[in-house]
Amino acid sequence: MSVNKLNVTPMMRQYLDIKDENPDCVIFFRMGDFYEMFFEDAVTVSRELEITLTGRDCGLSERAPMCGVPFHAADNYVARLVEKGFKVAICEQLEDPSTTKGLVKRGVVRIVTPGTILEGSTIQEGKNNYITSLVRTEDHYGLSLCDVTTGEWLVTEVSIDQGDHKLMDELAKFAPVECLLDHRVYTDTKLPTHLKDRFNALVEEIPDHVLDYDLCEKLLLNHFHILGLDGIGLSNHPACVLACSSLLNYLKETQKNELSHLGQITFYNVNEFMLLDSATRRNLELTETLREKKRKGSLLHVLDHTQTAMGARYLRKCVEQPLIHQEAINARLSATEELKESLFLRDDIKASLSAIYDMERLVGRIAYGTCNAKDLIALKESLRVLPELHGHLETTTSHALRAMYNSFDDLSDLFERIDVSIIDEPPISLREGGLIKGGYNQEIDELRDVKTHGTNWLRDVETKEKEQTGIKNLKIKYNKVFGYFLEVTQSYNHLVPDYFIRKQTLSNCERYITEELKTIEEKILGADEKLQALEYKLFTEIRDFIAEHMDRLLRMSRLVAELDMLTSLAIAAEVNGYVKPLIDESDTLNIVGGRHPVVEKIIGQHQFIANDVYLNETDHQINLITGPNMAGKSTFMRQTALIVLMAQMGSFVPAESAHIGVVDRIFTRVGASDDLASGQSTFMVEMMEVSNILHHATKKSLLILDEIGRGTSTIDGLSIAWAIIEHIANHNKLGAKTLFATHYHELTELEKTIPSLRNYCVQVKEMGETIIFLHKIVPGSVDHSYGIQVAHLAGLPKEVLDRAHAIMAEIEGESSRDLRAVVETSSKAVEEHKLQTEQNTVPASAHVEASQASLTAEPISLAQTVSP
Ligand code: ADP
Repeated sequence: MSVNKLNVTPMMRQYLDIKDENPDCVIFFRMGDFYEMFFEDAVTVSRELEITLTGRDCGLSERAPMCGVPFHAADNYVARLVEKGFKVAICEQLEDPSTTKGLVKRGVVRIVTPGTILEGSTIQEGKNNYITSLVRTEDHYGLSLCDVTTGEWLVTEVSIDQGDHKLMDELAKFAPVECLLDHRVYTDTKLPTHLKDRFNALVEEIPDHVLDYDLCEKLLLNHFHILGLDGIGLSNHPACVLACSSLLNYLKETQKNELSHLGQITFYNVNEFMLLDSATRRNLELTETLREKKRKGSLLHVLDHTQTAMGARYLRKCVEQPLIHQEAINARLSATEELKESLFLRDDIKASLSAIYDMERLVGRIAYGTCNAKDLIALKESLRVLPELHGHLETTTSHALRAMYNSFDDLSDLFERIDVSIIDEPPISLREGGLIKGGYNQEIDELRDVKTHGTNWLRDVETKEKEQTGIKNLKIKYNKVFGYFLEVTQSYNHLVPDYFIRKQTLSNCERYITEELKTIEEKILGADEKLQALEYKLFTEIRDFIAEHMDRLLRMSRLVAELDMLTSLAIAAEVNGYVKPLIDESDTLNIVGGRHPVVEKIIGQHQFIANDVYLNETDHQINLITGPNMAGKSTFMRQTALIVLMAQMGSFVPAESAHIGVVDRIFTRVGASDDLASGQSTFMVEMMEVSNILHHATKKSLLILDEIGRGTSTIDGLSIAWAIIEHIANHNKLGAKTLFATHYHELTELEKTIPSLRNYCVQVKEMGETIIFLHKIVPGSVDHSYGIQVAHLAGLPKEVLDRAHAIMAEIEGESSRDLRAVVETSSKAVEEHKLQTEQNTVPASAHVEASQASLTAEPISLAQTVSP
């Protein structure tokens, strides 16, 4: 809507100027006790928040559309708009309207966006709220991430060679809610769409001029008060400098404050952590379930016994980023062990931690200047337990806990300062007094004295004057015009002394004041106002004092988070009967009596059948697992992945024993992906995921492959699965440790030709018509799919089952080709496929042959699989 500014009222012109400067924001324009919105903003907001649309004269012929919300309830409205993807600019009155003539000055004091909001339902206790900036240089992506509510600021770089997959995996770890992308990434890639679809993120383009390297460097140097980028470890990482600086620039522009709590950038190497692609994260249900997206039913839910919000966030991070360095993993494991072994230590620590509030976010609010006195009390209560927490760590011996003890900062000076100054149960409002404790400031005490004793003083003056003058009915009264005065009826006029100053004469009385009365009056009348102003001033001084110690507070918040995380792992280990895994750099994976950490919780530990797994690089590199549906194949494979992942995050594991040679990546290809990009078939997505695995897995990776090739015809699927196994088994090509579940019983023949492949199967007991799943994984193979029995268990109508039995018998009878024939067909298909890929051309006849082969081969292979 274009409005001619020349014709509008001065206030409306002021509004339009501000809107012009912030065209992408909804402007919350402060007018007295309300924030008002005008023109398109008013229409949008009234629609989105369902509030009444009115109008206001603005100098034009038509009234300007307007709607408004009361200032004291504004946070809620702002949060709702931001959750809906809007950016909201808060425009305040910058002068006191009561002392200003004409139009008050107004200006935007803060822009609230999804990645910078401090309160509201998007800010969850156990979850970080990240904003990210992504910049591409010739050879790297620079990726900077920040959670402004906690002050955490990270940066990393991903080499362009590693591909966009890698970048998406890194982003998936943080699930940012707001993403700033440089021009090239914003316009030339699919990333904006991915980020919107995947994380529902607000995506914005970084203006080119912000990415001038020299300016970027200068901005960072100024922010950190340092002379060179070495100080923050970024001197050899230009992509990181651009990413951090563009993020800082955006935060400064929107938050319009010093951002002093962003006092540290942590550079991390993407190779410090186990690589988990986004499909694997979802498949393994690390932080939420695959289908319902619920936390309950995830690994995180089983492990989370944290007491603090900081601990909960840190635990989530550890689940998302298992470690890959043996020393780091063992350091965590030893700490977990020490906490698990000593019930007293664990309980003491747990009790102390439970009294600690979300210090990180409190500190964020203090830095922003948006905290109230209740926040300071919450901080004080958290600080109160630090000395005792320090005491609990005194006798610890593991390296990680000792290091915590040695670097512990009790922060008692900060505790003292709040303790002596702020009232224990202060009001939320900062402007109405009642914040500062008695004894902290003399002037405050005097003012409070005046308030409580004022009436006594007046009574004393009345009595004294009565006695001194002999005026028996002398009274002190009050009105708005004259304030306090002494009233003398006409009959006593002759007794009025000289020091009474006449103020007013009425028909039957005279009104006087005295110097003394005037002084008392000044004290009484000004006391409230002065008190409120002074209390507010002292409060801000105390807040600023605390803010100066931001670094210490944040460091301790992180220490508390880590201790809480380790204690949580210890509790989970104790409650669930986990054992300490042995971690080394060997090529072995040997789990005895392994269990699925989530499934065992659901069906009960005693009902769960424990299973062993043994993998190594030489003679047990690939375990091929056959067995009917519902036998427990995927539970077994997932539990193996989860046990490795838990071990590498420093957790004990659900097993009798576990020896784990560090794994660099876990890849899973399990079931149908529920996150299909539109227009792609399940099979296509499956093949893309497998392609990613074959390109990026290494010898040190663990591969979980479930029913590869299922989405196409039997002969195609079998051929593809076959070729994939050969590729993985070949050490010159891949050589990764692999669990491979399949319905293609023909593949079990490979045990004869591939020395590193072993057959395993899930035991099943036949009971007439039906079968019982024993869920036990044993060496060997089954050549029976029990499909009809499983269908029976699923409750298919009897006539369908009977007919299926009859058809099966018929096919079995007709089948004359033996297994070898199928295998030969499959091998031929693989060879042909190889040849075609090498020549990079597909002869038209091959299509015909392949489809004919699949037509004829399918029933035959079916016959092979069903004969018991
Ligand atoms: P598959 O992948 O072979 O089709 P699943 O792994 O999905 O089978 O297992 C099917 C069900 O069997 C699971 O939902 C679980 O309740 C049960 N189950 C699986 N493994 C076990 C086990 N080791 N002990 C007890 N129950 C199990």
